[in-house]
Amino acid sequence: MKTNDIEKLIIIGSGPAGWTAAIYAARANLNPLVFAGRPKTVPTTILPGGQLMLTTEVENYPGFPHGVTGPIMMSYFEQQAVRFGTRIVTDSGQTPDVSDPDDGHNYSYHDCKNVDLSRRPFIVVGEDDKEYRAHSVIIATGATANWLGLRNEQRLATSGGGVSACAVCDGALPIFRDKPLGVVGGGDSAVEEATYLTKFASKVYMIHRRDELRASKIMAERAKSNHKIEFAWNKTVVDVLGDNMITGVRLKDTVTGKESELPLGGLFMAIGHTPATAFLDGQLELDAKGYIKLKDPYRSTTSVEAVFAAGDCVDSVYRQAVTAAGMGCKAALDAERWLGAQGIE
Ligand code: NAP
Repeated sequence: MKTNDIEKLIIIGSGPAGWTAAIYAARANLNPLVFAGRPKTVPTTILPGGQLMLTTEVENYPGFPHGVTGPIMMSYFEQQAVRFGTRIVTDSGQTPDVSDPDDGHNYSYHDCKNVDLSRRPFIVVGEDDKEYRAHSVIIATGATANWLGLRNEQRLATSGGGVSACAVCDGALPIFRDKPLGVVGGGDSAVEEATYLTKFASKVYMIHRRDELRASKIMAERAKSNHKIEFAWNKTVVDVLGDNMITGVRLKDTVTGKESELPLGGLFMAIGHTPATAFLDGQLELDAKGYIKLKDPYRSTTSVEAVFAAGDCVDSVYRQAVTAAGMGCKAALDAERWLGAQGIE
């Protein structure tokens, strides 16, 4: 089914980048239409609103001197976007009333299934196969956490058995209190998660496949000086043990090949993220890790004219709400200028 009108701008994604793009675009009278996405369940819990929906306290977003929870912050972003006329693709076809922060995330929001960027107007296909046409598109689909892909890891992650990919979301749960916990990975995220978990755990093991951390020096020093963090160097997790609840992991030494068991009351993955760009089906130029390549690093322009990109689907380095929001602003301004240059006002 095709819609009749050609949208000036479709925004795909509803994290800080997507909503900020929507705020700017709506205020520029572009009447943007947003695919906010449907919530996915575990193992990778994704809610409309992106990774911040999995974050408890956000203390580093300017303007919130006392902090704010990720979901409330995203609800504010969304309310602000809708206040200026942003429309959201939903089951009913109506943009919901998002003025109540507790009711802001209406889960009848739609996913974008695929896009045809081969010619303009572009075609954006919703999950119900409805086709929307657009003069310009902003991709702000973010990135999701990676998993090891072990059968028991997935089984325990999907059943609430103490395996998670987000310490900040799940670490404070009573099931993890005063237990030895494991964090897999050696990057900044692993250090951040391990440090956070020391608030609750009896001990945190950082399980890393090499004998040095990838994390920045200052973060690595922080982990090494934390008496609650112990390192399991040169180890990979080859199995997760436990029936209904994790009891430990089977480790393999990457140097000797020797296997051992480590008793644990919880396991957290921090082995990087994958940008949500597969739905583009190779129509935009991506880097080796799947992040969208910008034509000019200071702009939001991509390899296809009139397609702009912002947020974590572009950025593997900073991955902050504030940087994503800044990129969303740039994308909206770039789209506005491009539309203006075409005489599409
Ligand atoms: P990352 O830097 O890519 O680190 C991923 C870690 O996971 C690496 O140590 C990697 O091991 C390990 N790993 C990957 N696949 C694995 C597998 N299959 N099995 C076992 N281990 C595996 O990812 P990140 O830590 O999420 O950080 C991403 C970016 O965000 C970085 O640029 C980081 O600096 C930034 N960041 C910054 C902060 C901060 O400054 N506060 C916080 C979080 C993230 P190898 O080292 O052997 O490759």
